[in-house]
Amino acid sequence: MVHTYPLRVRVSVYCSECLARIELPPPQETISGSVSCPSKHSSISFCHSETIKAGSRVDVCSRCSSTALFTQKDFDQRLGCAILAAGAAVALGVSWRFGGIWFVPVLLLVAAADLVLARRVAAVVICYQCDTEYRGVADASATRSYDPHVAERFADVKTVRRMNP
Ligand SMILES: [Zn+2]
Ligand SMILES: [Zn+2]
Repeated sequence: MVHTYPLRVRVSVYCSECLARIELPPPQETISGSVSCPSKHSSISFCHSETIKAGSRVDVCSRCSSTALFTQKDFDQRLGCAILAAGAAVALGVSWRFGGIWFVPVLLLVAAADLVLARRVAAVVICYQCDTEYRGVADASATRSYDPHVAERFADVKTVRRMNP
């Protein structure tokens, strides 16, 4: 599903030394530059691709130029389960109070609400190599979801980088 309304892409990077999260200026306004964390560790330079600037999808990472990216819902799966569990409890209570005929409709209503909530929660695109996060990307589904095999390849790189800051 491609949204046509203007989305604002928000990019956050993490300091390699203290893991502080730093929000980059909007790509539409600042295509490249550098930022540093509040503790003034080594600065992080970035350069957004045209695709990121347009906000359609993430093709290459603005920080490390890696093309290995994954997408995930910016939403806690456990929260979705908790809502459904609470809904089932409510449905049970309602059907106990007003009759069993209400159990299924109430449960369906809660499931629908859960679905709407899950859809409204935008996806976040994340770089395997440097953990940079991209929010508000229109076509986040163009990026594959998390693959532990790909992550494994980058785990070594990360360890090396953290040992030699
Ligand atoms: Zn830092
Ligand atoms: Zn990256």
